[in-house]
Amino acid sequence: MTFENLNLIEPISRALKTKGYENPTPIQEKAIPEILQGKDVFGCAQTGTGKTAAFALPILQLLHQRSASAGSSAAGASSSRGIKALILAPTRELAIQIDESFRDYGSGLKLRHCVIFGGVSQSKQTNALRMGVDIVIATPGRLLDLMQQGFVKLGSIEFFVLDEVDRMLDMGFINDIKKIIARIPAKRQTIFLSATIPSEIRKLADSLLSNPVSIQVAAVSAPAEMVKQSVYYVEKSEKRALLQHVLEKESIEHALVFTRTKHGADKVVKDLNKSGISAEAIHGNKSQNARQKALIGFKNRSIRILVATDIASRGIDVDKLTHVINYELPEVPETYVHRIGRTGRAGEAGIALSFCASEEMDYLKDINKLLKKNIDVVSTHSVPAAGSARPKPNSGRKQFARRRY
Ligand code: AMP
Repeated sequence: MTFENLNLIEPISRALKTKGYENPTPIQEKAIPEILQGKDVFGCAQTGTGKTAAFALPILQLLHQRSASAGSSAAGASSSRGIKALILAPTRELAIQIDESFRDYGSGLKLRHCVIFGGVSQSKQTNALRMGVDIVIATPGRLLDLMQQGFVKLGSIEFFVLDEVDRMLDMGFINDIKKIIARIPAKRQTIFLSATIPSEIRKLADSLLSNPVSIQVAAVSAPAEMVKQSVYYVEKSEKRALLQHVLEKESIEHALVFTRTKHGADKVVKDLNKSGISAEAIHGNKSQNARQKALIGFKNRSIRILVATDIASRGIDVDKLTHVINYELPEVPETYVHRIGRTGRAGEAGIALSFCASEEMDYLKDINKLLKKNIDVVSTHSVPAAGSARPKPNSGRKQFARRRY
C-alpha cells in the first residue's frame, strides 16, 4: 500500500514526500481511512510505529476540508472559531514532538497549532492562544491551569486525541484528564492510544469512545523487528567499567543510556565525564531548559551519549538512533520494550545492549517471558562462575566471575 491509496490531499502528500516517507506504516494504513470516515479509534500501539502521523494526517485533512467548505477566506485560519483539535500527551518532550509533526505534515496548510506544557513561563503559550489556534497539543497539568485562568476554551473541539494513555495514568493525570474531558463537547471524534491495555485503560476507553474501531498494530511484547538485542551479565560494581569499555571499543555513534533512577543517571554521567567521555543526563529533576538543551543537542548529534530515566525519555524520537543501552534493567518488562523502541525506528537497524547484574536476573526472566524468547548473551564478555552457562535467578550471592572486557 502507498500513501496514494489513502486519498490524502495534495499539500499533505507533498509534505510526506519532503519528509521522505514512501509507504504508510501498518497503523497509518489502518487508522487513516477510519479517522477520515469520522470514526472513533482505540489504538494499541507503541512509539516508533508511526502513530503520530496516523492521527495527525487525517485530522489535518479534515480540518482543512471543513474550514474550506465553511467558506473561510483563509481556508484554515480559524482564530475566530476556536480550538478544533486537542491532543493530550503525558510529557513535554512528547508534546513538543507531536507539535513538530503537525508543523511538518501541515506545512502546506493554513492551520495554526501550538504546544502547551508546564515548567516554563506561560506567556508564549497564552500569546499563541490569544492569536487563535486550530490545534492544541498539551500536557494535562498546564492545560488545566490555563483553562482555569480562562485562556483556553474547549467548547468547539471536534477532535480529541489521548496519546500514551497508559503513561498518563502512570503519571497520575487521571483526575486532570477527567476535568478536561468534562469541558469538551460530547459530539466529537476521539482517538485513544495506549501501548498497553490494562483493565483501567479499557474502562476509561469505554467511557470515552463511541463505537470505536479497534486497531492493534504490534503487541507490546513485539519490539521493533530491526532491533538486535543482547545482554551482558555483569556485576553492579563492574557496570561502570563495562559501559566505558562498550562506548570506547564498539563503534557507537549515538546512544541513549537508561538508568532506573534520576540519581543513577547523574552518577553515570559523572563517571563517563571523569573518564573523558562526554555525556548529558535528562530527567525530571533537571530544569525544563536543561532538558530541552540536552534533547536538542542529542538530536543534532552534538551530544553523543544521553543518559535518561524512563519517564523523561518517553517520546524521545531521534532519527537514526543506533544504540539503546540498558545500564539497569527496568522492573516492568513492558518498559524494556518501550526503551528499545527508541532505536530500530521506521525500518532502520538498531542495537539494544542490556547490562544485567545478579540481582536483576528476575527482571531479565520477566523480559524474556514477555518477548517469548531469550535475549542473546554476549559470550565473549561473560564468563559465568562455576561453569554454569547462566546464573540462576535470585540466589542472592555474587554470581559472576571477573569479566574480561
Ligand atoms: P511515532 O511512532 O509517531 O513516534 O513515529 C516514529 C518515527 O517514524 C518518527 O521518526 C516518524 O517521523 C517516522 N515515520 C512515521 N511514519 C513514517 C512513514 N510512513 N515512513 C517513514 N517514517 C515514518
